[in-house]
Amino acid sequence: MTPEMNPFEIAQRQLALAAEVMGLDATPHEFLRWPMREFHVRIPVRMDDGTTRVFEGFRVQYNDARGPTKGGLRFYPLETFDTVRALAAWMTWKCAVVDIPLGGAKGGVVCNPKELSLSELERLSRGYIRALGHYVGPEIDIPAPDVYTNPQIMAWMMDEYSKMVGHNAPGMITGKPIPLGGSQGRGDATARGGMYCMREAARALDIDLSQATVAIQGYGNAGQYAHELVSELFGSRVVAVSDSKGGIYCPDGLSFESVSAHKQDEGTVLTYADAAQACQRITSAELLALDVDVLIPAALEGVIHAENAHDIQARVIAELANGPTTPQADEILIEKGVYVIPDFLCNAGGVTVSYFEQVQNAYGFYWDIDLVHQRLDQKMTSAFQAVHRVAQQHGTPNRIAAYVVAVARVAEACKLRGWV
Ligand code: NAD
Repeated sequence: MTPEMNPFEIAQRQLALAAEVMGLDATPHEFLRWPMREFHVRIPVRMDDGTTRVFEGFRVQYNDARGPTKGGLRFYPLETFDTVRALAAWMTWKCAVVDIPLGGAKGGVVCNPKELSLSELERLSRGYIRALGHYVGPEIDIPAPDVYTNPQIMAWMMDEYSKMVGHNAPGMITGKPIPLGGSQGRGDATARGGMYCMREAARALDIDLSQATVAIQGYGNAGQYAHELVSELFGSRVVAVSDSKGGIYCPDGLSFESVSAHKQDEGTVLTYADAAQACQRITSAELLALDVDVLIPAALEGVIHAENAHDIQARVIAELANGPTTPQADEILIEKGVYVIPDFLCNAGGVTVSYFEQVQNAYGFYWDIDLVHQRLDQKMTSAFQAVHRVAQQHGTPNRIAAYVVAVARVAEACKLRGWV
């Protein structure tokens, strides 16, 4: 993250640019610049050594005009209130751009889960729900996994909430394990949704993805599935990947099976380079500057900024991460003619399948994987087309076009409710 702006200032700046293009009135603009509700909690957790540690937690419910708020929960050591606010704003625009009947929220706990034992992690997860359980729920606000949280954490949280309300409540959270009401296809949904966007972008730009080279920054849920799917669906060649320890570059292409198995065993992709032929270590910064057709940032926010945007050589950036590009970098990328599939469109597949999970929980009737993929494809393709049309109509970059589509829908709902 550069000192350009914090993530929430960036989210507000992006909204302002869209408000200008769409001629949004001052009152709805002011209303949509801020979260509707915020929670700041302290969570005491009994540690394995008998001491008690107090953790700081956040939940931001940004806007619920279109439906209950929805958004992930991060367990992240550098979490800040403003990052959570920004992510909650982006969730609002994300749910609106894919046209699902939900608002946006986000949560976070300042912690390093890698330093916690499994039982400490369970007590922290249950503690978060004890602190916030009265303010979330299937009709209010539905959390989900995000950075450094996972289906097991969702299961503990669902169990704790069910105890609080006195009945089984699978619909209060998504991203659950399948035996507890999770949906088929949730695991790779974020990356898969991004792939459908990439397919549509490639059609619009006349790019043959089977001949394309790809670099992926971040090798967690989003990044690993992107590696698997870009190879499986399009036959593209992934030449570089990275994680928090660094990256690897292999011009002949990196096999998903080998690299993901290495990451599983060693905890990093970095050391893969030591054993593999024609493969070298690179920094995460070097990865961003590689001469590839498609760059997929799939780690954290603010990684493409004013100082490195000039170095980007990719023709397309598919933003699976939230907020990977700062506004100054955006301007540079526009000048360079880089085609950006903006974050809250590109990574909306996760929340879309989370919404499918809620629908299935509500009906107690579960879909097979083909139906999930088919419905996800429909949602992502029509969202991409709506954004593409607006970008062409207004002559704006995709990010602003995505905002125009999403903000118009949220502003309309606010107006119909008589709020602004
Ligand atoms: P994750 O915790 O599974 O993985 C994060 C990865 O990023 C890890 O491999 C970590 O090592 C790597 N990383 C951290 N710092 C890095 C750095 N400086 N350089 C390179 N890699 C680095 O998280 P995730 O769920 O894959 O989320 C990644 C991004 O995608 C986040 O921005 C998240 O908000 C966004 N996202 C995720 C989902 C989802 O369903 N998982 C949905 C929408 C958006």
